[in-house]
Amino acid sequence: MGSITLEHVNKSFGDVQVIPDISLEIRDGEFVVFVGPSGCGKSTLLRLIAGLEDTTRGKILLDGQDFTDAPPARRGLAMVFQSYALYPHMSVRDNIAFPLKMARTPQAEIDRKVEYAARTLNLGNYLDRRPRALSGGQRQRVAIGRAIVREPKAFLFDEPLSNLDAALRVNMRLEITELHQQLKTTMVYVTHDQVEAMTMADRIVVLNAGTVEQFGSPLELYKKPANRFVAGFIGSPK
Ligand code: ADP
Ligand code: MG
Repeated sequence: MGSITLEHVNKSFGDVQVIPDISLEIRDGEFVVFVGPSGCGKSTLLRLIAGLEDTTRGKILLDGQDFTDAPPARRGLAMVFQSYALYPHMSVRDNIAFPLKMARTPQAEIDRKVEYAARTLNLGNYLDRRPRALSGGQRQRVAIGRAIVREPKAFLFDEPLSNLDAALRVNMRLEITELHQQLKTTMVYVTHDQVEAMTMADRIVVLNAGTVEQFGSPLELYKKPANRFVAGFIGSPK
């Protein structure tokens, strides 16, 4: 299970209110994209869900349970970082196994989970390589593998493709949506790229200055944009 509920979430840094008041529910198994211009609060919202930032006010529920004050490790969510966050001196196997080693998981279980992640991501032949001996796409898959082995309630992605070239980006979009279809685990994906949002999401949250302008399917946003901001941002007629 992996539903995520935000109830009147507010985040302020000092006097600056970055997120005034957001309530929304992400259903178990959904692929939800947070999209909006740079500085609108996408990363902050994702970090609040992950527990990497404290909420100033409001509640965060996971599967209906209050996790507002739970530390990141207790939330059962996995943040997928950009591929440059891999450890260069470790093999692919050890990079993927890293969170399990940190959690003192028994070795047999580590081996089983790493094999499963490697199979899922077509990395089986690369487990003994170092990250620098991999292509950009393979490196990104290793970063995802590190999240898969934790069997999270949900995957959280913060612009994971922004440092890849355009062709590879298109490939990785497809790989991530295929992974979602296979695992059927909730995914929350942050991007400033409208095309990415429209092609990947089950539902899209359009953010502007820390406020939800619209939350709906790509088709709903395209056909019935709530306002000019949404229409302009996703390029639909209004
Ligand atoms: P996005 O990911 O949409 O580009 P962010 O969530 O990173 O936006 O940032 C939203 C706003 O919050 C920005 O104005 C940013 O400067 C501010 N902000 C983010 N983190 C902090 C912080 N730790 N301290 C102060 N301001 C911050
Ligand atoms: Mg950001």
